[in-house]
Amino acid sequence: MNITVVGTGYVGLVSGTCYAESGNEVVCVDIDERRIAQLIEGKAPFYEPGLEELVRRNVKEGRLHFTTDVSYAVAQSMVSYIAVGTPMNATGAADLSAIFKAAEDIARAVTGYHIIAIKSTVPVGTNDRVREIVNRVAKHRIDVCSVPEFLKEGSAIEDFMRPDRVVIGSLSDQARAILREIHSPFVRTDNPILEMDPKSAELTKYASNAMLALRISFINDMANLCDAVGADINAVRRGLGSDRRIGSSFLFPGIGYGGSCFPKDVQALIHSASENGLDFALLAAAESVNMRQKRLIPQRVKQHFGDDLSGKVFAVWGTAFKPRTDDMREAPSLVVIEELLRAGAQCRVHDPEALENARKYFGDRVTYHKTNYEALKNADALLILTEWNEFRRPNFQRIKNELKQPVIFDGRNLYDPDLMKALEFRYYSVGRHPV
Ligand code: NAD
Repeated sequence: MNITVVGTGYVGLVSGTCYAESGNEVVCVDIDERRIAQLIEGKAPFYEPGLEELVRRNVKEGRLHFTTDVSYAVAQSMVSYIAVGTPMNATGAADLSAIFKAAEDIARAVTGYHIIAIKSTVPVGTNDRVREIVNRVAKHRIDVCSVPEFLKEGSAIEDFMRPDRVVIGSLSDQARAILREIHSPFVRTDNPILEMDPKSAELTKYASNAMLALRISFINDMANLCDAVGADINAVRRGLGSDRRIGSSFLFPGIGYGGSCFPKDVQALIHSASENGLDFALLAAAESVNMRQKRLIPQRVKQHFGDDLSGKVFAVWGTAFKPRTDDMREAPSLVVIEELLRAGAQCRVHDPEALENARKYFGDRVTYHKTNYEALKNADALLILTEWNEFRRPNFQRIKNELKQPVIFDGRNLYDPDLMKALEFRYYSVGRHPV
């Protein structure tokens, strides 16, 4: 099958590459000329494990191409996936301008029957609006469908190649059959392809992200209660998660969810509900718990060192919103570091992959360090903000030697509080026995 993918961000580039990997001829399009030039040279524009090798192989084998010319791409394909960004606008709604622009560009370029499959996360009703736009400009029949994407940054290729489910929202039998054919290589283990109407498909994506965000905020508030009463969230979490009706995933306490999806998708769903006269109070609460949770570490730091942090130096391990990505969009580290800087502190920052992105946010207001141990030099305390694997079993003696005081604020519960006590650290974590 000849396929166009419009947008070469996390979703578009991973999807396009994986479609090529399963034998399709794929052209990926982006308006960002630098990004396309980089991709043509075989360089991935962001860090995602395994992606660059897969891109190179498929380019070399002639199945994957990159261009800024959408007409060229669309003219030789029957299906165009739209995977452009849908950021949050000032009201909390999703900004759909890139979706409409991409759909119009595709519609003008089609040379026969065509399917536009929207992979970006879009509010319920967007398929209808896109259908109106393309019908105004297209000279051929176009079916507009919803194929929301569920991959996670950090394990995007594995998620794409072996999804828990594929959702196809279509009003056309012909489009549904073609999309089913494209996606069937990815569900060989009998995970379902769920076929439904486009509105239900659009909502399925938001419902999934909203549920995960709710679980995170729930466990974070439970953790705060554990801290207040001297209980252990890990014990509670295990007891809770062993109930098969509940399950154990997405019940790890921390310093709040971030990334390019959960915060904006929760807001967009609240907005869609309110446009339809409904108050989605549960989601508004999840969001406000999350905002509060991101401030937990600065609060604890101030309780320990006092409100004025002038002259204090903090080593920060991890700025990415989660491990195995360099993405810092809406990362808790942004809130934590800004708050410490505002209180007069200095920050020495390390992240295995996200330092380049960190520099875009903080410029020369913090210092950047290639190794986690280098960041510790002369710091008053260590703050752990991302649960990178390499932080799980550090040399504690070395940490102690480098720090001015043996204090750790762990936002990801990486270490055993008893061990920390035995090693004579002041150790703050989330929802476990307080120091
Ligand atoms: P991104 O910001 O990483 O990439 C978007 C890309 O689209 C950019 O390269 C941009 O230059 C390009 N673009 C914008 N307008 C264009 C146009 N008119 N023509 C061609 N290219 C254009 O975005 P992302 O993280 O890949 O997310 C894309 C969509 O997928 C969003 O709706 C997001 O919510 C959803 N999604 C993201 C993830 C994730 O983990 N990042 C997971 C599932 C779904």
